[in-house]
Amino acid sequence: MILKDNFGRSIDYIRISVTDRCNLRCVYCMPDTIKSGCQQDGKIDIGSILTYEEIVRFVEVASTLGIKKVRLTGGEPLVRNALNELIRGIKAISGIEELTLTTNGQLLATMAAQLAEAGLDRVNISLDSLMPHRYSEITKGGDFNKVMAGIRAAEAAGLLPIKLNMVPMAGINDDEIEAFIRLGIKTGYQIRFIELMPTVVNEHLFSSGFIGSDEIKRRIESKFELVPLKLRKYGPARYFSVTSHDGPEPWAKGIIGIISAVTCRFCPQCNRLRLTADGSLRPCLYSNIEVGLFDALRNKASKEEIQNLIIKAVDLKPERHNISDGNEKKDDPPTTSGAPFIMSGVGG
Ligand code: SAM
Ligand code: SF4
Repeated sequence: MILKDNFGRSIDYIRISVTDRCNLRCVYCMPDTIKSGCQQDGKIDIGSILTYEEIVRFVEVASTLGIKKVRLTGGEPLVRNALNELIRGIKAISGIEELTLTTNGQLLATMAAQLAEAGLDRVNISLDSLMPHRYSEITKGGDFNKVMAGIRAAEAAGLLPIKLNMVPMAGINDDEIEAFIRLGIKTGYQIRFIELMPTVVNEHLFSSGFIGSDEIKRRIESKFELVPLKLRKYGPARYFSVTSHDGPEPWAKGIIGIISAVTCRFCPQCNRLRLTADGSLRPCLYSNIEVGLFDALRNKASKEEIQNLIIKAVDLKPERHNISDGNEKKDDPPTTSGAPFIMSGVGG
């Protein structure tokens, strides 16, 4: 079975936010006012979010409709207790071919081995600076050494290839693009540069800090040779092999991704749905459209009822998002510069 939307796109990928809580407060993502979700500071209210059993049931049904890939995200997924139980449950579903996780890495050092043992295939780790002090400023308190220990633990546990997500922001960390590439060349980590997206919490930062993917690429090409790679058919990332002709590692190669979430309009290739922690299925990150699944999953609705809700969400998937980067062509539809969501709530 292949799930197709009204624009002919095949939907085979779901990103699941397991919690909207986080132990960091990245400047572009989380409002300071939202409660932290550290394991140390209390239990997450399970009454208002899906249980692991309910998430597994959802993925089981989604897999009967052709969902093959699952990414766990958040908020910070590792702040939710016993995540390996969820991983084990999802991995046991026969139609699921790939299970990955996006994390800030703060708790990864002690958890990587058990996550891998439970069946996790790969991990993306968010890291916006290689300078400990700057990293702490961007994340409002994150410990650089903990992320680095987490990355090493993930590598040792075989969660490969390691992918690092970096959001370049003008005047904040854009002077580190080259350093990230050199790190990738040296270690084999794939560096993914993600365009800053506007959300309800970062309007000012977006207007002063946004750097489009063409500019990111141009800056990289001034130092390195880039050759396009066809690694994925779908999704927002363009991948390149990157070759250094100078510096400490001449002629060494790495792989980078540039994710044009705002400018390039990857919508025609969009193959994904998002499930929020409180059980809403969102067909587009940049739209308020959602289909509630919480009651159906809590009340143990039949497979057919859950299938119908998933199909409804796919039917509602808009053709494209309408984020503005200020450079739209005249015939483009009206745009919005503010975004209708908090990233940690929807699951970035
Ligand atoms: N807490 C985990 C983490 O940080 O990796 C997972 C959730 S986080 C919302 C997922 C990804 O979204 C991270 O790589 C983060 O950098 C990215 N992200 C969050 N807000 C963003 C924004 N406004 N623009 C671009 N990327 C953003
Ligand atoms: Fe937390 Fe991830 Fe958002 Fe940073 S990007 S505040 S780590 S959810």
